[in-house]
Amino acid sequence: MSRSESELSGAERTARIVELERGSVIQTYTRQPILLVRGAGAKVWDAEGREYIDFVAGVAVNTVGHCHPAVVEAIAHQAKELIHTSNLYYTENQVFLAEELKTLTGMDRAFFCNSGAESVEAALKLARRATGRSKIVAAVHSFHGRTLGSLGATYKAVYREPFRPLAEAEFVTFDDPEALAAMVSKETSAVILEPVQGEGGVNVPSPEYLRAARQICDDCGALLILDEVQTGFGRTGRWFGKEHSGVLPDVMTLAKGIAGGLPMGAMLAAQSVSEVFQKGDHASTFGGGPLVSAAALASIGAIKNEKLVERSAEMGAYLRSRLVEEIDAREVRGLGLMVGVELEANCPEIVNRARERGVLLNATSEHVLRMVPPLVVGKEEIDRVVKVLGEILEEP
Ligand SMILES: *Cc1c(COP(=O)(O)O)cnc(C)c1O
Repeated sequence: MSRSESELSGAERTARIVELERGSVIQTYTRQPILLVRGAGAKVWDAEGREYIDFVAGVAVNTVGHCHPAVVEAIAHQAKELIHTSNLYYTENQVFLAEELKTLTGMDRAFFCNSGAESVEAALKLARRATGRSKIVAAVHSFHGRTLGSLGATYKAVYREPFRPLAEAEFVTFDDPEALAAMVSKETSAVILEPVQGEGGVNVPSPEYLRAARQICDDCGALLILDEVQTGFGRTGRWFGKEHSGVLPDVMTLAKGIAGGLPMGAMLAAQSVSEVFQKGDHASTFGGGPLVSAAALASIGAIKNEKLVERSAEMGAYLRSRLVEEIDAREVRGLGLMVGVELEANCPEIVNRARERGVLLNATSEHVLRMVPPLVVGKEEIDRVVKVLGEILEEP
């Protein structure tokens, strides 16, 4: 390379990274061909200076927006004090965060880890320990992660089949209380459900469904695990998806939107269930470290200060109504700023065309677009995205 990095044009930097990535990163991702270098609020910019409205938000992670000043400040401050200690010692932020999560969720105790899949792993281990049973019931179109344990509860057969044997769940039709009642037995350790299915295409169950699930679990002595990795922290227009049905689970899993973009997961449990985990039963070297916990506290603070939960409900309703008005969709569904648009058209193709017009979208399948923008998104940005989508759908 004759010229220094800084002399390369944006297009050259992008081409170079695309080329290098192919040879140096294991090829498990299908990436959009842009090099993102900066973000603020609901927008990101690529190396060529192009601006995008971000309706993917790091897959429902950047709830308070990209580089929220309070999160940046908390990270910068904590980074100068203490970054990592392990869980062999006490640190303040982890305990303050656990207290905060207790208050927000109504659960009793927290275990911290570093991702959604890890929070599900912890939940499945806890359920085994608490019930002495090993069978899991999950829903058709569920997504709970890609590690060997969480993968067993993830519906898509193409994700699971190459990795058998796994501890696989029994899958039951989502939003069907009778089917669930028929499947759950005295051998069931836990039922794991998303309050709104995310990766499965933004599927919203009736509020009665989770209430029925609660009852069915109680009748059989199985635990109810609500996977709120995607639905947590205001995404659905309530702090947590469970609030739409008023159900309190035995175990709750959190990640994605928890820490303003830093990697963190948490498993929360009711008191009696949490007590079956004893010293040495589970652990994480990084879990609940001072830096990520500081970011989580700042992010939660920002959600409160800026009333982002209410804003999610409001802007989500606005987005859905604009979509219904402007777009010829098979269905527009969702809660808060977790929105699915089912279309006749090929959605991966729409994702490409939208990107070329400065809008980042995600397709969960051939015919479903998922919209999960930062909760700070504004009406102008929503209008722009709906306009772009409308234009694309009118093209030949
Ligand atoms: C994303 C997701 C996971 C997995 O989270 P990772 O951080 O990718 O491991 C688990 N459950 C749900 C509901 C999710 O949306």
